[in-house]
Amino acid sequence: RIIAATPSSPNEEAIERALRPKQLDEYVGQEKIRDQLEIFIGAARQRKEALDHTLLFGPPGLGKTTLAHIIAREMGVNLRQTSGPVLERAGDLAALLTNLEANDVLFIDEIHRLSPVVEEILYPALEDYQIDIMIGEGPAARSVKLDLQPFTLVGATTRAGMLTNPLRDRFGIVARLEFYTSEELSRIVTRSASLLEVPIKDDGAFEIAKRARGTPRIANRLLRRVRDYAQVKGNGEITKAMADAALKMLDVDAVGFDLMDRKLLEAILFKFGGGPVGLDNVAAAIGEERDTIEDVLEPYLIQQGYLQRTPRGRIATASAYEHFGLTAPRMNPN
Ligand code: ADP
Repeated sequence: RIIAATPSSPNEEAIERALRPKQLDEYVGQEKIRDQLEIFIGAARQRKEALDHTLLFGPPGLGKTTLAHIIAREMGVNLRQTSGPVLERAGDLAALLTNLEANDVLFIDEIHRLSPVVEEILYPALEDYQIDIMIGEGPAARSVKLDLQPFTLVGATTRAGMLTNPLRDRFGIVARLEFYTSEELSRIVTRSASLLEVPIKDDGAFEIAKRARGTPRIANRLLRRVRDYAQVKGNGEITKAMADAALKMLDVDAVGFDLMDRKLLEAILFKFGGGPVGLDNVAAAIGEERDTIEDVLEPYLIQQGYLQRTPRGRIATASAYEHFGLTAPRMNPN
């Protein structure tokens, strides 16, 4: 339902994989992170050591998984991928860890959703490349230490604040991914169009980029929908006019808000008088999960200055009023 969220079908995942940059120098934007990683990876390679454990955080679709794959590739090692909710038992993680080869990357998506028992196993693994496992049952049970190969944990999360402190402290490299500028997204759209062999004009790419909520996954997704439109309604080429018409049909407005963005802002403006309103009340009003609102919808609206999170609740800003053709009430300067 929500354009911003995770890939929605196996087919979509396959397309995402195909569009994924494979090397650091193909990865658009996030310059600071790229510069840092280039140095850390270079140094680790020279020393023939594993890269430090790396935490990537930021909203969905900004390129965390892509970066994890690039790290493994630039290090010249294997990548094993799993996710927090999938690792249910301690044994699941132990099996993965004991199968790693020297300096491999273990990528754990949604790492804030690891269960406490699994997290316990992870601490000594991260610190000393060792795990303690229980062998046998009842009175005969004993704990055995197993040595692991040195490895790099790359953890991804939408919210660093959800990680336990001991886990967060074990990451030597912490990178916060930022929303992309329209220029950067335009480069991503142009690159994807060429991989998909879709003819596109610069202003067509820019129109899609401007309306992609600062997010490469959304840019690529909009590109594919605009391609369909241009194929049926035109001669297949994506121009600014084509992009504009297609995006209107998709209910993506001029600043890139989709239906859910507008629903959220409208609820705050019209049902709660502009706020402040608590997250639970907003969630109930629009029939959406708290987590989805916090992780997927709000970050972009906040970054763009349409919404504020305050201790008393969410507040719509003057820009939000303007977006819906309203006049903002005069704000109390305090
Ligand atoms: P996340 O793991 O943060 O949800 P992904 O790494 O799966 O996001 O990225 C989603 C899509 O966006 C992928 O198909 C990828 O090709 C594209 N993408 C993400 N970041 C970039 C980037 N910096 N340059 C080019 N494409 C990107």
